Amino acid sequence: MKAIYLDYAAATPVDSRVMQAMRPYFAEQFHNPSAIYLAGRSARKAMDEARMNVARYLGARPHEIIFTAGATEANNLAIHGVIRRYPKAEMLAGAIEHKSVLSPASFYDHRLLKVNKAGLVDPELLKKMIGPKTVLVSVGLVNNEIGTIQPIARLSQVVGEVRKNRERSGNKLPIWLHTDAAQAPSYLDLHVARLGADMMSLNGGKIYGPKQSGILYVRSGVELHSLISGGGQERGLRAGTESPPAAVGFAKALEFAQAGRVAGLKRITELKDLFIKELTGKIPDAIINSPSKNHCPHIVNVSFPGQDNERLAMELDECGIQVSTGSACSVSSEEPSHVLMAIGASKADAQSSLRFSFGRSTTRPDILKTVKTLVQTIKA
Ligand code: PLP
Repeated sequence: MKAIYLDYAAATPVDSRVMQAMRPYFAEQFHNPSAIYLAGRSARKAMDEARMNVARYLGARPHEIIFTAGATEANNLAIHGVIRRYPKAEMLAGAIEHKSVLSPASFYDHRLLKVNKAGLVDPELLKKMIGPKTVLVSVGLVNNEIGTIQPIARLSQVVGEVRKNRERSGNKLPIWLHTDAAQAPSYLDLHVARLGADMMSLNGGKIYGPKQSGILYVRSGVELHSLISGGGQERGLRAGTESPPAAVGFAKALEFAQAGRVAGLKRITELKDLFIKELTGKIPDAIINSPSKNHCPHIVNVSFPGQDNERLAMELDECGIQVSTGSACSVSSEEPSHVLMAIGASKADAQSSLRFSFGRSTTRPDILKTVKTLVQTIKA
């Protein structure tokens, strides 16, 4: 029996075309991109091309792309990087951000931006919350547990107005907007100027590229303290021998994600609609925690009142259906999801929630079989 994999928000299989593009850099072209001989220079060329392509897909410039080992590292570089540069300043973060944003933020003076029941940060609230010491605002583009899409362009306008006012009054403290977009590339436009992001984190392992690959986009003019110091690679911000296979694989994965995003959004929206219709028809007390608007359809979070989510996930696994009890990164914690609590779920409902996330291989029969199995499991 082939498993039905519904945890694409946690990990995606590597696309065979991505694998093919990476392969030479593991073997014949293994050389260190910093080496001065010809083979080293050809590895450097592969890094440069990957950087140029990533920049092109994002509407950025090549030197604005810093390769990292995934989104956790990119988020850490953005947050530690800015606040260490401006140690007396503070930052604001969305209350439903991924732990790789909330945890580095907790090292510093920070405040959380409340969200409404749909998980949205209100630009008016942001305007009120920005204070004289605020140097960084971090709000993710797509939430990894419920799929809320934040109005990043509107939040950027608010940040931009504060920046202009500071500049006019001779205040030297900058203010930057960072967005963790790890869940977005297969479905949304990532053009940095249209989004208005000053920094953006991406991750290869969620877009059919290699795990431990990713980038931080850093707009020219944003000054960061380095996170990992050493040999000066990645403009001194992230030292360590570069990985041409990871960079090449990430660039290819991003190319396919962005090229397929419009068709992907349409196909996954149809699957999501089918899932919600079937689920709410057959299990009327199920609570859909994902919003009905401003929602990236590959992530659907549902509470099954009275059910223990870990038991439910294990029983589904026995039936060949793989789902998550929330963020893959917090499954070991006993605490109910901070995301569900922030959107007003009760502790009991938060602890009875499952995250279903769809991807390239998800089909209509998968959706129908999943709902059927859920009905049987809950009744049993
Ligand atoms: N940010 C978001 C929104 C995510 O979904 C994830 C992964 O779950 C991360 C950051 C962290 O990515 P990684 O663990 O691959 O570094």
